[in-house]
Amino acid sequence: MTIWRTSVIFAVVAAVLIIVNLTWLVPALRAIEAAASVLALQVLERARSDVSGSLATLQKQMEQAAEEIGVEPERGRTVIDRLLKHNPAIKSVGIAGGDGKEILRIDRFRFVSPADLGVYAEERSFTEARDGSASFGDIFVSPELEPHMTLAVPVRRGGRVAQALIGDLNVRGLVSAIHAPPTRTGDIYVVDREGNQIIHPDLSELLRRPYFGDRAIVRRVIDGAVTAHGLAPEDGYRSEVGEHMFAVGMPVGIADMSIFFEQPRSIALAGQRQMIFLAGITVLLGAVIAAVVIVANMRLTRLNTVLEERNQESVVSAKILVRRDRELVAANARLRDLLLELESVGKMLVRRDLELSRANARLEELDVIKSEFVSIAAHQLRTPLTGVRWSYQTILDRDGASLTPEQRRLLTSGLGATLRMIDLVNDLLSVARIEEGRFGIRLRTQSITPLLEQFITRYAMLGKEKGISFALELPKDKPLPDLVFDEERIAMVLDNFLDNALKYTEPGGTVVMRAIEDHARIAVSVQDSGIGITPSQLHRVFTKFFRADNAIRLHTSGTGLGLYVAKNIIEKHDGAIDVKSEEGKGTIFSFTLPIA
Ligand code: ADP
Repeated sequence: MTIWRTSVIFAVVAAVLIIVNLTWLVPALRAIEAAASVLALQVLERARSDVSGSLATLQKQMEQAAEEIGVEPERGRTVIDRLLKHNPAIKSVGIAGGDGKEILRIDRFRFVSPADLGVYAEERSFTEARDGSASFGDIFVSPELEPHMTLAVPVRRGGRVAQALIGDLNVRGLVSAIHAPPTRTGDIYVVDREGNQIIHPDLSELLRRPYFGDRAIVRRVIDGAVTAHGLAPEDGYRSEVGEHMFAVGMPVGIADMSIFFEQPRSIALAGQRQMIFLAGITVLLGAVIAAVVIVANMRLTRLNTVLEERNQESVVSAKILVRRDRELVAANARLRDLLLELESVGKMLVRRDLELSRANARLEELDVIKSEFVSIAAHQLRTPLTGVRWSYQTILDRDGASLTPEQRRLLTSGLGATLRMIDLVNDLLSVARIEEGRFGIRLRTQSITPLLEQFITRYAMLGKEKGISFALELPKDKPLPDLVFDEERIAMVLDNFLDNALKYTEPGGTVVMRAIEDHARIAVSVQDSGIGITPSQLHRVFTKFFRADNAIRLHTSGTGLGLYVAKNIIEKHDGAIDVKSEEGKGTIFSFTLPIA
């Protein structure tokens, strides 16, 4: 909700509250005013009837006395004495002739000498009495500080006014009548026909005789002889001390006097103030409640918006969750299928594993049988082969001269074949021993130099036949240190290296055997300038029965076992065997042995 909308709602609520309050407040205020007016009029009416009643009584008694004196003028003194006796409010009574001169006066308290008699020709009350109507004079304060008033009534004789009876009335009784109104919160005052205050409970006020004819309400009552209820807007006035006054007034109904009751508005209409205060509180409370409700509503609206957004987010999240859930279910199903597949694969693998284990066991068995067979066969073959070899050798050595060239060629070829057979059988026996773990070595600390020299000498001779040179290179400065090795086995390795060099090198080639000391080891290498080995087959040279394609082409015979055996021998000596070769250029076979 915008601030603007909130303000409009708040203004409307406040306006409604004010209007609702006004609808009851205005009549209520009027009612309070009316009630105050009624109350004030009651008080005033009581005072008015007191004043008019007592004045009327005095007037009546005076008129009765005047009537008696009119009938019997000589009884004037007696009548006045009786009047004074019966009416303590009358201080003195005199009789004035038609010319206004007083001819007799009897005072309640003192003797009146002829010099004290007054002349009333000019006095309004006298002239009015002479004109035939009873008339009250103005109130005045006597030397004894008592409020006094003159009352003149006509004395008729023979149908016309002959004299006037003039009474000096002490009006303290009247003042008392208005002195203490039932409610102490207001004052009662009486004004004459001009608007001068003539009766007031306060004597000093009476002496001052203030003028109230300028008050609208006073003017209205005097001029219109009507009762003023104080409800007209112009009826209110400010007192002499500036206080707002509420007043009611009415004619006394005698001697042209008007009587008023005034109260400060703050007292007379105190109810109104309370009402206005109450209405203000109601509007304020209403406004506060409206503000609270509107603010709470704003907060609720905002909260609602936030909740709606959250709700939408939740719906979206829920949808995503549902989708994820579906995906998960599908993935789960796939996983289950895979698991099932895996299970069957696993079972198959277990089966295969079993089969393989069985096959392996069988193979191992076969291997053992084969090794045993090779071993037995080789042993069985070696003895007769050795026999055949010696037979050939003996015939060739002993009967060489008597043999025809054809016989010599056949015998030499037979001897070569037999020697190759012996080599094969020896290789097979070595392999069989290696595989059976019976290929032991007998170590001895000794120099390798004699063995190297012995072998190079032998192969130099063999090489000469084929046109290949053999050379040995040894360190020149100092002899090679001793090594720990099995001479017979290392001899097999050297024989294999040199035999291969001789076999796989074309006539005219060179073979160099070297021995050097290197990092607490002695490295022995045989380098030839032969056919070499292709890089694709180089890594297989130390495996059983391997023969390179170029080697097979050059030399049909060969077992492919020599290097396999050599590798095993070197490793048994804690040494390392290695090969470097370039096809068509040559090969270097080498091994290292630890120095003793
Ligand atoms: P054999 O010499 O009886 O064939 P070896 O185990 O001694 O068996 O050699 C295995 C193979 O390694 C040979 O067949 C040959 O292909 C290759 N080889 C060995 N020495 C050389 C060499 N010096 N030059 C070229 N090829 C060789």
